[in-house]
Amino acid sequence: MLRSVSDLDDIQYYGKKVLVRVDFNVSIDNGLVTEDYRIRSAIPTIEYLVKRGAKVILASHLGRPKYRNHNNSLAPVAVRLKEILNRKVDFINDCIGTEVHTKIEKLNYGSILLLENLRYYSEEQNNDPEFCKSISSLADIYVNDAFSTSHRKHASTYGAVKNFDIRLSGFSLIKEIEYLSMIRYNPRKPFTLVIGGSKIKDKIGALENLLPKADKLLIGGGAAYTFLKAKGFKIGNSLFDEEHFDWVKSALSSFGEKILLPLDHIVSSEENSFSTVSGDIPDGMCGFDIGNETSRIYSSEIGGNGFGTIFWNGPMGMFEVGQFAGGTMDVAKSMALAFWRGAMTLVGGGDTIAALKKSGVSESEVTHLSTGGGATLRFLAGDKMPGIEALEQVN
Ligand code: ADP
Ligand code: MG
Repeated sequence: MLRSVSDLDDIQYYGKKVLVRVDFNVSIDNGLVTEDYRIRSAIPTIEYLVKRGAKVILASHLGRPKYRNHNNSLAPVAVRLKEILNRKVDFINDCIGTEVHTKIEKLNYGSILLLENLRYYSEEQNNDPEFCKSISSLADIYVNDAFSTSHRKHASTYGAVKNFDIRLSGFSLIKEIEYLSMIRYNPRKPFTLVIGGSKIKDKIGALENLLPKADKLLIGGGAAYTFLKAKGFKIGNSLFDEEHFDWVKSALSSFGEKILLPLDHIVSSEENSFSTVSGDIPDGMCGFDIGNETSRIYSSEIGGNGFGTIFWNGPMGMFEVGQFAGGTMDVAKSMALAFWRGAMTLVGGGDTIAALKKSGVSESEVTHLSTGGGATLRFLAGDKMPGIEALEQVN
């Protein structure tokens, strides 16, 4: 059984050391946080604990540093967190050890301490038992509010967790589980799936689970060309996934009537020019975005589903480049339209969320923005989530 932060009596938090595993793996540029959605997601849990007089100890990773490296320091996150909460946030430049313990002992009740990047220690990713002990010695209570890292068996998400008698799920984690479970088991119909991005491999598990429940699957992005090739179209030099070609063919034969593929494409040759083609993509050309006609069809499919559920993962094209962003921007705007018309809309994936931002659609125009990329797809695929399983308590 999963226990939430709100399942504990208030008194049990008073003066207690509560370690919250958050995902503050955010974009930082020149020492400033440029995207803080993940930080904001953890605020309800942090404020809940602060109000109950806990000593709130926040632990996160940032990037993939191989060693202690100030470019991966969480110090800028402490600054941003302080601004958001409008209260004091202490920061310490380590995540284990005597100094950290001393600092925690001195914390006032209801105050917040952010620890330095867990990944300064390779032991974090290796789930090293000694490191796990060092982590669990920091606090009395463990809270996981980092859905996006819950698919990993790392010390702070997995190994250290079972050392705590009291281990709880934070509000952001619960929200993710609730929305994604709804999609996984019981999406409100009609259910539209919008899948793009570059790698089919990452999406297969989720597609296998969701395709039988979906009414429509709109495919764009680099993922589309393997499907188009399976249908007999020429795809030029566009992305092709040989390894999963058989899977794609079988998906088309089982669910072909639900699957919409691009009819036209924005293509480019090596000289950097771009144009639109319908149907086949000529040799030497590469598809980088869905064309205008496809974009219109996809937008009306999405915008027209104002009653059901829409899940979107993966941009429709290489949206980072202006001339290949159109399809993705149209999809983002029609997601907002569907939301306003009453649909339950969910968007997941790091690049997809970046694309949504770029389109000018705001967070409040989406029912749920999933903080996870890989974790979201794994959860939808029905894979084990070690970080969530570790929270389970037998009672
Ligand atoms: P997310 O991070 O949201 O899960 P993905 O990582 O699956 O999304 O896919 C995003 C990437 O896919 C982007 O970097 C984008 O440039 C790339 N992409 C989309 N369409 C194409 C295409 N037609 N050719 C090459 N790359 C593409
Ligand atoms: Mg990505």
